[in-house]
Amino acid sequence: MPQHTPKEFALESAEFRVRQAGEWLGLEDGLIETIIAPRRILEVSIPFRRDSGTRDHLVGWRVHHNTTRGPAKGGIRYHPGVTRDEVVALAIGMSLKTAIMNLPLGGAKGGIAFDPKTMSTGELERIIRRYVSELIPFLGPDRDVPAPDVGTNAQVMAWVLDQYSASVGHIVPGVVTGKPIELGGSLGRESATGRGAVEAAALAGAQIGLPLKDTRISIQGYGQVGAWAARLAHARGAKIVALADVGGSIHNANGIDLVLVDHKLREGAKSVVETGAGDLIGKGLDGATQVFSVDADIIMPCALGDAIDEHIATQIKARLIVEGANGPLTPKADEVMQDRGIIVVPDIYANAGGVTCSYLEQCQNFAHLSWDEDEVNERVISLMQSSFKRLHAFSVEAKLPYRLAASVLGIKTIADSHRLRGLHP
Ligand code: GLU
Repeated sequence: MPQHTPKEFALESAEFRVRQAGEWLGLEDGLIETIIAPRRILEVSIPFRRDSGTRDHLVGWRVHHNTTRGPAKGGIRYHPGVTRDEVVALAIGMSLKTAIMNLPLGGAKGGIAFDPKTMSTGELERIIRRYVSELIPFLGPDRDVPAPDVGTNAQVMAWVLDQYSASVGHIVPGVVTGKPIELGGSLGRESATGRGAVEAAALAGAQIGLPLKDTRISIQGYGQVGAWAARLAHARGAKIVALADVGGSIHNANGIDLVLVDHKLREGAKSVVETGAGDLIGKGLDGATQVFSVDADIIMPCALGDAIDEHIATQIKARLIVEGANGPLTPKADEVMQDRGIIVVPDIYANAGGVTCSYLEQCQNFAHLSWDEDEVNERVISLMQSSFKRLHAFSVEAKLPYRLAASVLGIKTIADSHRLRGLHP
Protein backbone atom coordinates (compact mmCIF):
# COMPACT_ATOMS: atom_id res chain seq x y z
CA MET A 1 0.00 0.00 0.00
CA PRO A 2 1.62 3.32 -1.02
CA GLN A 3 1.97 6.04 1.60
CA HIS A 4 -0.42 8.93 1.09
CA THR A 5 -0.71 12.40 2.40
CA PRO A 6 -4.37 13.06 3.25
CA LYS A 7 -4.74 15.40 0.26
CA GLU A 8 -3.47 12.88 -2.28
CA PHE A 9 -5.85 10.48 -0.66
CA ALA A 10 -8.75 12.89 -1.32
CA LEU A 11 -8.19 12.67 -5.08
CA GLU A 12 -7.70 8.93 -5.00
CA SER A 13 -10.94 8.54 -3.04
CA ALA A 14 -12.87 10.77 -5.43
CA GLU A 15 -11.55 8.97 -8.51
CA PHE A 16 -12.14 5.58 -6.90
CA ARG A 17 -15.77 6.48 -6.25
CA VAL A 18 -16.34 7.74 -9.80
CA ARG A 19 -14.71 4.61 -11.27
CA GLN A 20 -16.80 2.38 -9.04
CA ALA A 21 -19.96 4.11 -10.30
CA GLY A 22 -18.74 3.85 -13.92
CA GLU A 23 -18.10 0.13 -13.51
CA TRP A 24 -21.52 -0.40 -11.98
CA LEU A 25 -23.06 1.38 -14.97
CA GLY A 26 -20.83 -0.51 -17.43
CA LEU A 27 -19.99 2.70 -19.28
CA GLU A 28 -18.87 2.14 -22.85
CA ASP A 29 -16.05 3.49 -24.97
CA GLY A 30 -13.75 4.94 -22.32
CA LEU A 31 -16.44 7.41 -21.31
CA ILE A 32 -15.42 7.12 -17.65
CA GLU A 33 -11.96 8.50 -18.51
CA THR A 34 -13.58 11.53 -20.16
CA ILE A 35 -15.70 12.02 -17.06
CA ILE A 36 -12.88 11.60 -14.52
CA ALA A 37 -10.39 13.94 -16.17
CA PRO A 38 -10.93 17.64 -15.39
CA ARG A 39 -11.67 19.75 -18.49
CA ARG A 40 -9.00 22.21 -17.43
CA ILE A 41 -6.80 23.05 -14.45
CA LEU A 42 -5.29 26.47 -14.00
CA GLU A 43 -2.45 27.02 -11.54
CA VAL A 44 -1.71 30.63 -10.74
CA SER A 45 0.99 32.44 -8.86
CA ILE A 46 -0.45 35.28 -6.79
CA PRO A 47 2.03 38.07 -6.10
CA PHE A 48 0.68 40.60 -3.61
CA ARG A 49 1.81 43.45 -1.38
CA ARG A 50 1.92 42.83 2.38
CA ASP A 51 0.88 45.71 4.64
CA SER A 52 4.55 46.01 5.60
CA GLY A 53 5.32 47.01 2.00
CA THR A 54 7.09 43.76 1.05
CA ARG A 55 6.07 41.63 -1.92
CA ASP A 56 4.78 38.12 -1.14
CA HIS A 57 3.53 35.19 -3.24
CA LEU A 58 0.87 32.54 -2.91
CA VAL A 59 -0.14 29.71 -5.18
CA GLY A 60 -3.72 29.00 -6.20
CA TRP A 61 -5.74 26.79 -8.52
CA ARG A 62 -9.05 26.78 -10.31
CA VAL A 63 -10.30 23.47 -11.67
CA HIS A 64 -13.15 23.10 -14.17
CA HIS A 65 -14.01 19.47 -13.73
CA ASN A 66 -17.12 18.95 -15.84
CA THR A 67 -18.85 21.55 -18.00
CA THR A 68 -21.05 19.27 -20.12
CA ARG A 69 -24.31 20.10 -18.36
CA GLY A 70 -23.65 23.77 -17.64
CA PRO A 71 -21.10 26.33 -16.47
CA ALA A 72 -18.43 25.15 -14.03
CA LYS A 73 -19.68 25.79 -10.47
CA GLY A 74 -17.99 25.60 -7.11
CA GLY A 75 -16.42 27.39 -4.20
CA ILE A 76 -13.02 28.93 -3.51
CA ARG A 77 -11.23 27.44 -0.52
CA TYR A 78 -8.57 29.15 1.61
CA HIS A 79 -6.58 26.71 3.72
CA PRO A 80 -2.84 26.31 4.31
CA GLY A 81 -3.10 22.62 3.37
CA VAL A 82 -4.88 23.11 0.03
CA THR A 83 -3.21 21.24 -2.83
CA ARG A 84 -3.89 20.92 -6.54
CA ASP A 85 -5.05 17.33 -6.08
CA GLU A 86 -7.44 18.27 -3.31
CA VAL A 87 -8.97 20.99 -5.48
CA VAL A 88 -9.44 18.44 -8.30
CA ALA A 89 -11.11 16.03 -5.86
CA LEU A 90 -13.45 18.75 -4.62
CA ALA A 91 -14.28 19.79 -8.20
CA ILE A 92 -15.24 16.18 -9.00
CA GLY A 93 -17.55 16.33 -5.99
CA MET A 94 -19.18 19.48 -7.37
CA SER A 95 -19.88 17.83 -10.76
CA LEU A 96 -21.62 15.00 -8.92
CA LYS A 97 -23.57 17.36 -6.64
CA THR A 98 -24.98 19.46 -9.44
CA ALA A 99 -25.88 16.30 -11.37
CA ILE A 100 -27.60 14.62 -8.41
CA MET A 101 -29.57 17.78 -7.70
CA ASN A 102 -30.45 18.07 -11.40
CA LEU A 103 -29.07 21.62 -11.55
CA PRO A 104 -28.03 22.85 -15.02
CA LEU A 105 -24.44 23.33 -13.85
CA GLY A 106 -21.09 21.60 -14.04
CA GLY A 107 -18.47 21.22 -11.34
CA ALA A 108 -15.50 23.37 -10.35
CA LYS A 109 -13.41 24.30 -7.34
CA GLY A 110 -10.77 26.86 -6.51
CA GLY A 111 -8.21 27.01 -3.78
CA ILE A 112 -5.42 29.21 -2.47
CA ALA A 113 -2.92 27.65 -0.08
CA PHE A 114 -2.73 29.99 2.91
CA ASP A 115 -4.32 30.71 6.26
CA PRO A 116 -6.65 33.71 5.91
CA LYS A 117 -6.47 34.33 9.67
CA THR A 118 -2.86 35.45 9.24
CA MET A 119 -3.76 38.27 6.78
CA SER A 120 -5.23 41.73 7.26
CA THR A 121 -8.43 42.76 5.44
CA GLY A 122 -6.38 44.75 2.95
CA GLU A 123 -4.10 41.79 2.23
CA LEU A 124 -7.11 39.50 1.80
CA GLU A 125 -8.61 41.93 -0.70
CA ARG A 126 -5.37 42.19 -2.70
CA ILE A 127 -4.95 38.38 -2.76
CA ILE A 128 -8.42 37.62 -4.16
CA ARG A 129 -8.31 40.50 -6.65
CA ARG A 130 -5.02 39.24 -8.09
CA TYR A 131 -6.31 35.63 -8.15
CA VAL A 132 -9.46 36.71 -10.01
CA SER A 133 -7.51 38.83 -12.48
CA GLU A 134 -5.39 35.76 -13.37
CA LEU A 135 -8.63 33.83 -13.93
CA ILE A 136 -10.64 36.35 -15.98
CA PRO A 137 -10.78 34.38 -19.27
CA PHE A 138 -12.09 31.34 -17.40
CA LEU A 139 -14.80 33.11 -15.38
CA GLY A 140 -18.27 34.40 -16.23
CA PRO A 141 -21.91 33.45 -15.63
CA ASP A 142 -21.78 31.11 -18.65
CA ARG A 143 -18.28 29.77 -17.94
CA ASP A 144 -17.46 29.41 -14.28
CA VAL A 145 -19.22 30.76 -11.21
CA PRO A 146 -17.29 30.73 -7.90
CA ALA A 147 -18.87 30.70 -4.43
CA PRO A 148 -17.69 30.59 -0.81
CA ASP A 149 -16.09 27.49 0.65
CA VAL A 150 -13.88 26.84 3.69
CA GLY A 151 -12.12 30.11 4.63
CA THR A 152 -14.02 32.42 2.25
CA ASN A 153 -17.21 34.42 2.75
CA ALA A 154 -19.64 36.92 1.23
CA GLN A 155 -17.10 39.79 1.43
CA VAL A 156 -14.58 37.76 -0.59
CA MET A 157 -17.32 37.10 -3.17
CA ALA A 158 -18.04 40.86 -3.34
CA TRP A 159 -14.38 41.43 -4.30
CA VAL A 160 -14.64 38.64 -6.91
CA LEU A 161 -17.71 40.37 -8.34
CA ASP A 162 -16.00 43.75 -8.38
CA GLN A 163 -12.76 42.56 -9.94
CA TYR A 164 -14.57 40.64 -12.68
CA SER A 165 -17.09 43.45 -13.30
CA ALA A 166 -14.30 46.02 -13.56
CA SER A 167 -12.59 43.90 -16.19
CA VAL A 168 -15.69 43.70 -18.42
CA GLY A 169 -16.86 47.25 -17.77
CA HIS A 170 -20.21 46.66 -16.08
CA ILE A 171 -21.59 44.88 -13.02
CA VAL A 172 -22.12 41.14 -13.54
CA PRO A 173 -23.90 39.83 -10.41
CA GLY A 174 -24.28 36.32 -11.88
CA VAL A 175 -20.50 35.73 -12.01
CA VAL A 176 -20.44 34.69 -8.38
CA THR A 177 -22.83 33.32 -5.74
CA GLY A 178 -22.85 33.60 -1.98
CA LYS A 179 -22.32 37.35 -2.40
CA PRO A 180 -23.79 39.97 -0.07
CA ILE A 181 -27.55 40.58 -0.37
CA GLU A 182 -26.82 44.24 -1.29
CA LEU A 183 -25.03 43.05 -4.45
CA GLY A 184 -27.62 40.53 -5.61
CA GLY A 185 -26.94 37.74 -3.12
CA SER A 186 -29.79 35.49 -2.11
CA LEU A 187 -31.55 35.45 1.21
CA GLY A 188 -31.12 32.04 2.77
CA ARG A 189 -27.71 31.35 1.15
CA GLU A 190 -25.75 31.46 4.42
CA SER A 191 -27.88 28.82 6.08
CA ALA A 192 -28.57 26.75 2.94
CA THR A 193 -25.87 24.07 3.30
CA GLY A 194 -26.76 23.45 6.96
CA ARG A 195 -30.48 23.55 6.14
CA GLY A 196 -30.05 21.01 3.36
CA ALA A 197 -27.94 18.75 5.59
CA VAL A 198 -30.58 18.81 8.33
CA GLU A 199 -33.26 17.98 5.77
CA ALA A 200 -31.08 15.10 4.53
CA ALA A 201 -30.79 13.87 8.14
CA ALA A 202 -34.56 14.10 8.58
CA LEU A 203 -35.31 12.26 5.33
CA ALA A 204 -32.76 9.48 5.86
CA GLY A 205 -33.68 9.24 9.56
CA ALA A 206 -37.35 8.77 8.70
CA GLN A 207 -36.40 5.67 6.68
CA ILE A 208 -34.91 3.99 9.76
CA GLY A 209 -37.42 5.17 12.36
CA LEU A 210 -35.24 8.01 13.62
CA PRO A 211 -37.26 11.23 13.57
CA LEU A 212 -35.36 14.46 14.28
CA LYS A 213 -37.45 15.18 17.34
CA ASP A 214 -35.52 14.27 20.51
CA THR A 215 -32.75 12.73 18.42
CA ARG A 216 -29.22 13.22 19.78
CA ILE A 217 -26.87 14.81 17.27
CA SER A 218 -23.12 15.31 17.49
CA ILE A 219 -21.54 17.83 15.12
CA GLN A 220 -17.91 18.40 14.14
CA GLY A 221 -17.38 21.95 12.84
CA TYR A 222 -19.10 25.11 14.03
CA GLY A 223 -18.56 27.26 10.95
CA GLN A 224 -20.95 28.14 8.15
CA VAL A 225 -22.23 24.56 7.78
CA GLY A 226 -22.02 23.08 11.28
CA ALA A 227 -23.41 26.10 13.15
CA TRP A 228 -26.46 26.33 10.91
CA ALA A 229 -26.97 22.58 10.99
CA ALA A 230 -26.90 22.72 14.80
CA ARG A 231 -29.36 25.64 15.02
CA LEU A 232 -31.78 24.24 12.45
CA ALA A 233 -31.71 20.69 13.85
CA HIS A 234 -32.33 22.14 17.31
CA ALA A 235 -35.25 24.18 15.93
CA ARG A 236 -36.73 20.90 14.67
CA GLY A 237 -36.57 19.31 18.13
CA ALA A 238 -33.19 17.56 18.01
CA LYS A 239 -30.75 17.69 20.92
CA ILE A 240 -27.19 18.77 20.05
CA VAL A 241 -25.20 16.68 22.53
CA ALA A 242 -21.68 17.41 21.28
CA LEU A 243 -19.88 20.04 19.24
CA ALA A 244 -16.30 20.36 18.06
CA ASP A 245 -14.10 22.86 16.26
CA VAL A 246 -10.34 23.45 15.99
CA GLY A 247 -10.22 24.11 19.76
CA GLY A 248 -11.55 20.66 20.66
CA SER A 249 -14.82 18.92 21.57
CA ILE A 250 -17.51 19.65 24.14
CA HIS A 251 -20.31 17.39 25.37
CA ASN A 252 -23.57 17.91 27.22
CA ALA A 253 -25.94 14.95 27.36
CA ASN A 254 -28.86 17.30 28.14
CA GLY A 255 -28.24 19.32 25.00
CA ILE A 256 -25.78 22.14 24.38
CA ASP A 257 -27.18 25.65 24.79
CA LEU A 258 -26.55 27.05 21.30
CA VAL A 259 -27.70 30.54 22.25
CA LEU A 260 -24.94 30.60 24.86
CA VAL A 261 -22.38 29.25 22.34
CA ASP A 262 -23.27 31.93 19.78
CA HIS A 263 -23.28 34.64 22.45
CA LYS A 264 -19.83 33.66 23.76
CA LEU A 265 -18.38 33.38 20.24
CA ARG A 266 -19.72 36.86 19.42
CA GLU A 267 -18.14 38.13 22.63
CA GLY A 268 -14.73 36.85 21.49
CA ALA A 269 -14.46 33.18 22.52
CA LYS A 270 -12.09 31.57 20.00
CA SER A 271 -13.68 28.14 20.07
CA VAL A 272 -16.73 26.27 21.32
CA VAL A 273 -14.50 24.89 24.10
CA GLU A 274 -14.21 28.40 25.55
CA THR A 275 -17.97 28.94 25.79
CA GLY A 276 -18.69 26.90 28.94
CA ALA A 277 -21.62 25.26 27.15
CA GLY A 278 -20.48 21.69 27.75
CA ASP A 279 -17.83 19.47 29.32
CA LEU A 280 -14.48 19.47 27.57
CA ILE A 281 -13.94 15.96 26.17
CA GLY A 282 -11.00 16.66 23.85
CA LYS A 283 -8.57 19.53 23.42
CA GLY A 284 -7.15 20.99 20.22
CA LEU A 285 -7.34 19.52 16.70
CA ASP A 286 -6.71 15.98 17.93
CA GLY A 287 -9.42 16.37 20.55
CA ALA A 288 -11.88 17.51 17.87
CA THR A 289 -12.35 13.83 16.92
CA GLN A 290 -13.75 12.98 20.38
CA VAL A 291 -17.05 14.37 19.13
CA PHE A 292 -17.44 11.20 17.04
CA SER A 293 -17.34 8.73 19.92
CA VAL A 294 -20.06 10.21 22.17
CA ASP A 295 -23.47 8.59 22.62
CA ALA A 296 -25.47 10.08 19.76
CA ASP A 297 -27.99 8.92 17.16
CA ILE A 298 -26.69 11.06 14.32
CA ILE A 299 -23.15 12.25 13.59
CA MET A 300 -22.66 15.23 11.31
CA PRO A 301 -19.04 15.82 10.25
CA CYS A 302 -19.22 19.44 9.03
CA ALA A 303 -15.54 20.48 9.01
CA LEU A 304 -12.79 19.22 6.71
CA GLY A 305 -12.09 16.12 4.64
CA ASP A 306 -10.72 12.81 5.97
CA ALA A 307 -12.04 13.57 9.48
CA ILE A 308 -13.18 9.97 10.03
CA ASP A 309 -10.71 7.20 9.23
CA GLU A 310 -11.20 3.47 9.77
CA HIS A 311 -9.98 3.71 13.36
CA ILE A 312 -12.42 6.47 14.39
CA ALA A 313 -15.13 4.67 12.42
CA THR A 314 -14.99 1.72 14.82
CA GLN A 315 -15.77 4.04 17.77
CA ILE A 316 -18.92 5.60 16.33
CA LYS A 317 -22.09 4.69 18.20
CA ALA A 318 -24.58 6.55 16.00
CA ARG A 319 -26.97 4.94 13.50
CA LEU A 320 -26.69 7.66 10.88
CA ILE A 321 -23.87 9.80 9.53
CA VAL A 322 -24.71 12.88 7.48
CA GLU A 323 -21.74 14.41 5.67
CA GLY A 324 -22.04 18.19 5.95
CA ALA A 325 -18.37 18.55 4.94
CA ASN A 326 -16.84 17.44 1.67
CA GLY A 327 -15.10 14.06 1.92
CA PRO A 328 -15.14 13.61 5.71
CA LEU A 329 -15.04 9.79 5.51
CA THR A 330 -12.16 7.89 3.95
CA PRO A 331 -13.19 4.92 1.74
CA LYS A 332 -11.91 2.57 4.47
CA ALA A 333 -14.06 4.31 7.07
CA ASP A 334 -16.93 3.87 4.68
CA GLU A 335 -16.35 0.12 4.58
CA VAL A 336 -16.37 0.00 8.38
CA MET A 337 -19.72 1.83 8.39
CA GLN A 338 -21.16 -0.64 5.92
CA ASP A 339 -19.93 -3.62 7.92
CA ARG A 340 -21.41 -2.11 11.08
CA GLY A 341 -24.73 -1.27 9.41
CA ILE A 342 -24.34 2.47 10.03
CA ILE A 343 -26.08 4.46 7.30
CA VAL A 344 -24.05 7.19 5.59
CA VAL A 345 -25.72 10.04 3.71
CA PRO A 346 -22.91 11.12 1.38
CA ASP A 347 -21.58 14.65 0.94
CA ILE A 348 -22.52 14.84 -2.74
CA TYR A 349 -26.15 14.80 -1.66
CA ALA A 350 -26.08 15.80 2.03
CA ASN A 351 -24.31 19.14 1.60
CA ALA A 352 -25.75 20.02 -1.81
CA GLY A 353 -28.13 22.57 -0.25
CA GLY A 354 -25.39 25.20 -0.66
CA VAL A 355 -24.92 24.87 -4.38
CA THR A 356 -28.68 24.44 -4.79
CA CYS A 357 -29.17 27.84 -3.20
CA SER A 358 -26.35 29.21 -5.37
CA TYR A 359 -28.33 28.06 -8.39
CA LEU A 360 -31.42 29.84 -7.02
CA GLU A 361 -29.28 32.95 -6.49
CA GLN A 362 -28.30 32.88 -10.16
CA CYS A 363 -31.93 32.35 -11.21
CA GLN A 364 -32.81 35.53 -9.29
CA ASN A 365 -29.83 37.42 -10.81
CA PHE A 366 -30.72 36.44 -14.37
CA ALA A 367 -34.40 37.33 -13.88
CA HIS A 368 -33.63 40.56 -11.92
CA LEU A 369 -35.76 39.25 -9.08
CA SER A 370 -35.31 38.80 -5.38
CA TRP A 371 -37.33 36.18 -3.56
CA ASP A 372 -38.10 36.44 0.12
CA GLU A 373 -36.26 34.12 2.47
CA ASP A 374 -39.13 31.70 2.99
CA GLU A 375 -39.48 31.21 -0.73
CA VAL A 376 -35.75 30.46 -1.13
CA ASN A 377 -35.72 28.10 1.86
CA GLU A 378 -38.79 26.26 0.59
CA ARG A 379 -37.23 25.80 -2.83
CA VAL A 380 -33.99 24.46 -1.32
CA ILE A 381 -35.96 22.00 0.82
CA SER A 382 -38.18 20.93 -2.04
CA LEU A 383 -35.17 20.26 -4.31
CA MET A 384 -33.46 18.32 -1.48
CA GLN A 385 -36.65 16.27 -1.04
CA SER A 386 -37.08 15.37 -4.69
CA SER A 387 -33.44 14.35 -5.00
CA PHE A 388 -33.70 12.23 -1.87
CA LYS A 389 -36.75 10.50 -3.29
CA ARG A 390 -34.76 9.57 -6.40
CA LEU A 391 -31.71 8.58 -4.37
CA HIS A 392 -33.61 6.46 -1.88
CA ALA A 393 -35.73 4.72 -4.53
CA PHE A 394 -32.63 3.92 -6.57
CA SER A 395 -30.66 2.70 -3.56
CA VAL A 396 -33.50 0.30 -2.67
CA GLU A 397 -34.02 -0.85 -6.25
CA ALA A 398 -30.31 -1.41 -6.96
CA LYS A 399 -29.54 -2.57 -3.38
CA LEU A 400 -26.73 -0.04 -3.08
CA PRO A 401 -25.69 2.07 -0.08
CA TYR A 402 -26.54 5.75 -0.48
CA ARG A 403 -22.94 6.68 -1.34
CA LEU A 404 -22.61 4.39 -4.34
CA ALA A 405 -26.23 4.99 -5.35
CA ALA A 406 -25.58 8.76 -5.36
CA SER A 407 -22.37 8.39 -7.38
CA VAL A 408 -24.12 6.14 -9.89
CA LEU A 409 -27.03 8.57 -10.29
CA GLY A 410 -24.64 11.52 -10.71
CA ILE A 411 -22.33 9.74 -13.15
CA LYS A 412 -25.30 8.44 -15.14
CA THR A 413 -26.66 11.99 -15.52
CA ILE A 414 -23.24 13.25 -16.64
CA ALA A 415 -22.64 10.27 -18.97
CA ASP A 416 -26.07 10.68 -20.58
CA SER A 417 -25.35 14.33 -21.34
CA HIS A 418 -21.93 13.44 -22.84
CA ARG A 419 -23.59 10.85 -25.06
CA LEU A 420 -26.31 13.25 -26.20
CA ARG A 421 -23.82 15.99 -27.03
CA GLY A 422 -21.41 13.60 -28.77
CA LEU A 423 -17.65 13.84 -29.03
CA HIS A 424 -16.25 16.73 -31.00
CA PRO A 425 -14.61 17.31 -33.43
N1 GLU B 1 -18.60 25.43 -1.53
C1 GLU B 1 -19.91 24.86 -1.54
C2 GLU B 1 -19.85 23.37 -1.82
O1 GLU B 1 -18.85 22.74 -1.63
C3 GLU B 1 -20.87 25.63 -2.45
C4 GLU B 1 -20.47 25.71 -3.88
C5 GLU B 1 -21.37 26.64 -4.69
O2 GLU B 1 -22.33 27.16 -4.18
O3 GLU B 1 -21.05 26.80 -5.86
O4 GLU B 1 -20.83 22.77 -2.19
